Amino acid sequence: MPHLLKPVSPRRPPSLSDRDAKAPGSLPRGDALKEALAHELERLTALQAVFYADGRRALLVVLQGRDASGKDGTIRTVFGACNPQGCQVTSFKAPTPTELAHDYLWRVHQAIPPRGMIGIFNRSHYEDVLVVRVRNLVPAATWKKRYDQINAFERHLTENGVTILKFCLHISKDEQREQFLERLTDPTKNWKFRAGDLDDRALWNDYTAAYRDALKKCSTPWAPWYLVPGDNATARNYMVTRVINETLQEMDLAYPRAPKEVLALAEKLRK
Ligand code: ATP
Repeated sequence: MPHLLKPVSPRRPPSLSDRDAKAPGSLPRGDALKEALAHELERLTALQAVFYADGRRALLVVLQGRDASGKDGTIRTVFGACNPQGCQVTSFKAPTPTELAHDYLWRVHQAIPPRGMIGIFNRSHYEDVLVVRVRNLVPAATWKKRYDQINAFERHLTENGVTILKFCLHISKDEQREQFLERLTDPTKNWKFRAGDLDDRALWNDYTAAYRDALKKCSTPWAPWYLVPGDNATARNYMVTRVINETLQEMDLAYPRAPKEVLALAEKLRK
C-alpha cells in the first residue's frame, strides 16, 4: 500500500542521517496531506471505538525520540482522535529512588495497558539503552544485556494479549535547533526547555549510535520499530496514524453482540 511505513529491518538498519528525517517524496503535500491525515484520524476514531468494545487485546504505542522530536505533538494530534476513556499516557522521566531500587522494567510493566486500552509511552524502557548508555549511568556490561532482556519482555507481552508498535521520531539537527529556538523565544513554550537539552544535543552522534543499536537489535517480528521522518509534523502524524490504523484493522475487531434473549428485550421496551 502506498505511503505505509515498513518496520525497521535489523539486517538493513537506518543510518539516522538528516535525510532520514525528511518526509518521503511519495507522500502528498500541503492541503492534500492535511486531508489525508484528517481521513486517517477519522478512521482511528472508528477503529478505537470498536477496539475498546471488543476488549480482546491491548495496544502499546511506544514513542521515542530526541528532545523536541515531536513526541508531545504526536500524542496531542493522533490520540486526540481517540476516546480518552480508552487511552492512557505514561511519560517516563529520570527514575525515582524507588524505581531505581527495582529492576528497570518494573515501572514499565506497571504501565502496560490492560485489554481494550491503548497505552502510549512518552519515552520508555528504551531510555535504559539510550540516555543510560550515552551518559554512562550503568556499566556497559549492564546495558549491553538489556537488548535481549527487552526483546524477551516484549515477546512475553505480545504472547499475553498486548500488541506493540514502536515509533522512533527522527528529526534533523537543524530542525532540533529550530524547535529549541522556538521554545526559547515563545513564552508559552519556555517551560519545555531544559538547560540539559543542550548537553544532549552536544552528544548528538553518541545518541545516534545508541538509537541505531536499539532499532537494529530490538526491531522484532513481535514488536517492530518504525522510523518516522519527523521534520514535517503533518507527515509524521499521518505516518504514525496510518500504521496504527492498519494494525487495528488487521485485528478483525467486532462489537460484542448481546445474546438473543437480551436483544428480545427491545420488543418488551417498545410495548
Ligand atoms: P521533550 O522531548 O519534548 O523535550 P522530554 O521527554 O525531554 O520532553 P522531560 O521531562 O524534559 O521531557 O525529560 C525527561 C527526561 O527523563 C529525559 O531527559 C530522559 O532522558 C530522562 N529519562 C527517562 N528515562 C530515564 C532513565 N531510565 N534513566 C535516566 N533518565 C531517564
